[in-house]
Amino acid sequence: MQLSLLRQQSELANTARQREVLEDEFTPPLPYFTEALSDNGLPRLTATGIEVLQINVGKLCNQTCTHCHVDAGPDRRESMSRATAEAIIDVLARHDIPTLDITGGAPEMNPNFRWLVEQATLLGRRVIDRCNLTILMANGYRDLPEFLAQHEVEVVASLPCYLEENCDSQRGDGVFKRSIDGLRRLNALGYGQPDSPRTLNLVYNPVGPSLPPSQAALEATYRSELKSRYDIVFTNLHTITNLPISRFLDDLLRSDQFDNYMQKLIESFNPATVEGVMCRTMVSVDWEGHLFDCDFNQMLNIGLSPEQPRHISDFDFESLASRGIQTGRHCFGCTAGNGSSCQGAVVKIGTEKPA
Ligand code: SF4
Ligand code: SF4
Repeated sequence: MQLSLLRQQSELANTARQREVLEDEFTPPLPYFTEALSDNGLPRLTATGIEVLQINVGKLCNQTCTHCHVDAGPDRRESMSRATAEAIIDVLARHDIPTLDITGGAPEMNPNFRWLVEQATLLGRRVIDRCNLTILMANGYRDLPEFLAQHEVEVVASLPCYLEENCDSQRGDGVFKRSIDGLRRLNALGYGQPDSPRTLNLVYNPVGPSLPPSQAALEATYRSELKSRYDIVFTNLHTITNLPISRFLDDLLRSDQFDNYMQKLIESFNPATVEGVMCRTMVSVDWEGHLFDCDFNQMLNIGLSPEQPRHISDFDFESLASRGIQTGRHCFGCTAGNGSSCQGAVVKIGTEKPA
């Protein structure tokens, strides 16, 4: 049997195991996500449009972070083909979807990354690169900052702490120093500078099994610490909750913290976040072109509801823009505390809950 087929089968078994863990009976019993919605007088989640097409171009990455929900790394071979990339650009050309959000793995390692950026930019779309920063300093990619700047790509960069030790414990030895070097190169091109149109947003996620603190307060701390220690500036900070998926789920199970973490997410359910969860305004596409409600459902292989198209080649804007969303207990990660999305906290400043 071919190695790739074996890998695919083990991947499917792994996602099935994760779904079972999340939807299993707990002692004492934990509610399902749909129960939390109905207990709070809320309907099931439904899309309200498509503002973002988020594409995961593959699992290849130059890092192997402990919390990675994609299980990405240097040995992964899943990578979006040119044919699938073309189908994505075709969808953007035919429909009024304002934003192309490119993620991975390290999306820049996909051979079609630059072509996708160029084509989406030609169509006048806002393009987001979810960048791990160290790729900007890797051999073969050092001209990336200039390429991103030339195409006015918005950079969303992971930096889980302004302290080297915390960052490296999650992302690997030496990652912090190379991330700071990457940020310096972006700053030098105007990214994150006051009044600059080049957006550089940083992403914080907790190192352990806790909820992120207030986004506004942490942003102020990041701003002063990064400025005073490294003379680095950025546009905004996004705080993101770790969802119990893939490596982070395995880590929780290994350290016997899974039940406590789920309990924490569920107890922190905030009905005010439900309106703003990201799946309501996005469609997620995997490296083979399959469609999902979000990147997390993609990783758990929870497809769209049965009446929806399955593949980018069958994209049906009208139907997808008002679809019912497939949810599970992992969704409590998006609705805990101040909420969590690819744009950071969901609730507005001033209505935040203490962590
Ligand atoms: S979290 Fe991001 S940088 Fe880290 S391994 Fe996963 S995809 Fe790569
Ligand atoms: S995990 Fe996905 S489907 Fe569930 S609430 Fe979050 S974005 Fe929506």
